[in-house]
Amino acid sequence: MEFRLIDRIRERTAQAREDVRLGIGDDAALLVVPPGQELAVAIDTLVEGVHFPVGTAPADIGWKALAVNLSDLAAMGAAPAWALLALTLPHADPARVDGLAEGFAQLAREHGVALVGGDTTRGPFCLSVAVHGFVPQGQALTRAGACVGDAVFVTGTLGDAAGGLRLVQGERPFDPADDAHRSLRARLDRPVPRVRAGLALRGLAHACIDVSDGLLADLGHLCAASGVGVEVDCGALPLSAALCAVFGEADAREFALSGGDDYELCFTVPPARIAAVQAALADHGCRATRIGRVVEEQGVSLAGIGPVPHRRGWDHFPG
Ligand code: ADP
Ligand code: MG
Repeated sequence: MEFRLIDRIRERTAQAREDVRLGIGDDAALLVVPPGQELAVAIDTLVEGVHFPVGTAPADIGWKALAVNLSDLAAMGAAPAWALLALTLPHADPARVDGLAEGFAQLAREHGVALVGGDTTRGPFCLSVAVHGFVPQGQALTRAGACVGDAVFVTGTLGDAAGGLRLVQGERPFDPADDAHRSLRARLDRPVPRVRAGLALRGLAHACIDVSDGLLADLGHLCAASGVGVEVDCGALPLSAALCAVFGEADAREFALSGGDDYELCFTVPPARIAAVQAALADHGCRATRIGRVVEEQGVSLAGIGPVPHRRGWDHFPG
């Protein structure tokens, strides 16, 4: 049965790439890294009930498992190439496997990502995806490198996925006929990784991180890695009309600061390159908003409010 499940995954995710010498089916995949490129590698695990609500559609889970990983590559300025999928299921469930594979494949095709291997085991439902991407030697974006005086930007809008989660949890009942509700749910279930924006930021941004655990938490990581501080202008946070319509502006701002699952890119740019960054992102239909500046005093502070505790945001092992 295991092998029939693997076949179902292979059929649904087929994606030809010349740099794949040997894909699914042998003991290991054989892959060719182009000369002059560094390999960027990341892995993320999704656990039912922790990273997606119980009852989430399998296709959404498959999409999201790849999306969160592509977001990590985007934050490094890496071009995605290959993925591995480790899947654990309580029992052989072809319908669930098909859904997972189809959601995964939808996003993989958009970025030309080949699924080249994985593992299939029995146990509590969870899945891990590992991704590999290329970045020209020495050009990767990292969390380090932010300089005092840089402007801090974020792509898209923040807090929508946190709003979507509140709707799923029933804090406010989800209304499928409401466009705003649907768009918030979509941000939670089908996050869109900023792959092209990440590539466009190569050679322009000083430092970059993807916002997965909440802006304050992730900016805190960027500050720590760069040895600087960031002052965030709360009034400048990009909030969607949908989020403000459903939850009001005060909650929307709170979600934008502390909610998780946004998968936007947060990056710093020297003032002289701001126009170039705006132009490069506009070419990809990506909006970026200036939300603050890099300062000497370490840590994240909110303009007009002051320093905020470092690790606000999701932590699997708090304390
Ligand atoms: P091995 O016992 O050598 O680890 P497996 O029986 O686990 O091999 O897997 C057989 C082949 O199928 C390998 O090429 C492996 O990478 C691939 N594979 C297994 N599970 C998955 C999966 N969930 N998604 C993609 N490829 C998989
Ligand atoms: Mg195996």
